Amino acid sequence: MMRVGLGVDVHAFAAPEQGRRLVLGGVEIPSDRGLLGHSDADVLAHAITDAFLGAAGLEDIGHYFPDTEERYREADSIGLLREARKLVGESWEVSNVDSVVVCEWPRIKGYRGAMRKNLAAALGVEESRVGVRGTTTERLGFPGRGEGIAAQAVCLLERR
Ligand SMILES: [Zn+2]
Repeated sequence: MMRVGLGVDVHAFAAPEQGRRLVLGGVEIPSDRGLLGHSDADVLAHAITDAFLGAAGLEDIGHYFPDTEERYREADSIGLLREARKLVGESWEVSNVDSVVVCEWPRIKGYRGAMRKNLAAALGVEESRVGVRGTTTERLGFPGRGEGIAAQAVCLLERR
C-alpha cells in the first residue's frame, strides 16, 4: 500500500531588531532577519513534517508539537521531524519527498544540498529521496513583497 501526504506552511519575517535566525531545512542562512515562530520557524521542515504525518494518516504537526508548550520554544525543527519519524514507525517507508520553498529571497539553490542532507537524515533515507526546490512569485503577494516565506511538500509512503 502507498499513501501520499501534503504539507503547506507559511511564516512571516521578523523585524531585524527581533534577532531571529533564518533557518530553512535545518540550514542557518546568513540574514539580518529570520522568520517569526515559536520554534526555529523552519518553514520547509514544517511543511515536510506535515506531509509526512499526513501520509501516515496521523494528526498535524501542531497536534504533536504545540506552540503552547515551552519545551518547543526555539525548537530545532529537524529534531521535530526526527520525532515525527519515530511516531510514524518503521512499518512505513519513505518512498520520496518533494518540496518547494516560495520566496523572493534567499535563493535556495546554494543551500539545497545541505538542506536535503539534513531532511533526509531526519527521515532516515538517502538524499536522493528528498527533493528541495525554490521558486519565486514574480514579486506578487506576500512572498513577492518579502513579507514571509511559504513552503509546500508532498510525501509518499510505502507499507513495508
Ligand atoms: Zn511552521
